[in-house]
Amino acid sequence: MPQHPRFRGEDFVWYEERCTGCASCAKFCPLGIIRIVTRPSGVMTKEGEKNALEVFDIDLARCMFCGLCVEACPYDALHMGSGFERARYTRKDLVINIDELRRAPKRPSTWFRPQLEAKGYNPHTDRPLEWHEVGRHEAPDLEAMQARWVEVR
Ligand code: SF4
Ligand code: SF4
Repeated sequence: MPQHPRFRGEDFVWYEERCTGCASCAKFCPLGIIRIVTRPSGVMTKEGEKNALEVFDIDLARCMFCGLCVEACPYDALHMGSGFERARYTRKDLVINIDELRRAPKRPSTWFRPQLEAKGYNPHTDRPLEWHEVGRHEAPDLEAMQARWVEVR
């Protein structure tokens, strides 16, 4: 069945390259079903030190696909997905973990992403998008920032 490009589905589209591990998505989820564990990475960005993610679980069994986690993500790292078939035999198989998020098809919904709508992107028919194609802002040059940080110190 054809779906609208703003359809809010699973698996969630997560771009690790954009994610700072700030955990805003977890804090804003009204059901508290996102679990994030991070450690310092030593990589500096404009916004501060980037966290390395060790755990990123989302319990889809309880998710109501409200999209508040996506709204809360300051770096456009997390997007609603475009799929809708997730039948499983057990509830624990409905928890997606960081490896599944890494593997999930990179076809972000255009919901709450006007920059994708402006391009006329349709996740159901167009090609998957790379991390540098989905943000509101041009991606920061992490290597240059790291070099500047070392100079300042
Ligand atoms: S879509 Fe809503 S319920 Fe589901 S993980 Fe995001 S904030 Fe939580
Ligand atoms: S997905 Fe977004 S809100 Fe969640 S930890 Fe990563 S950068 Fe923060």
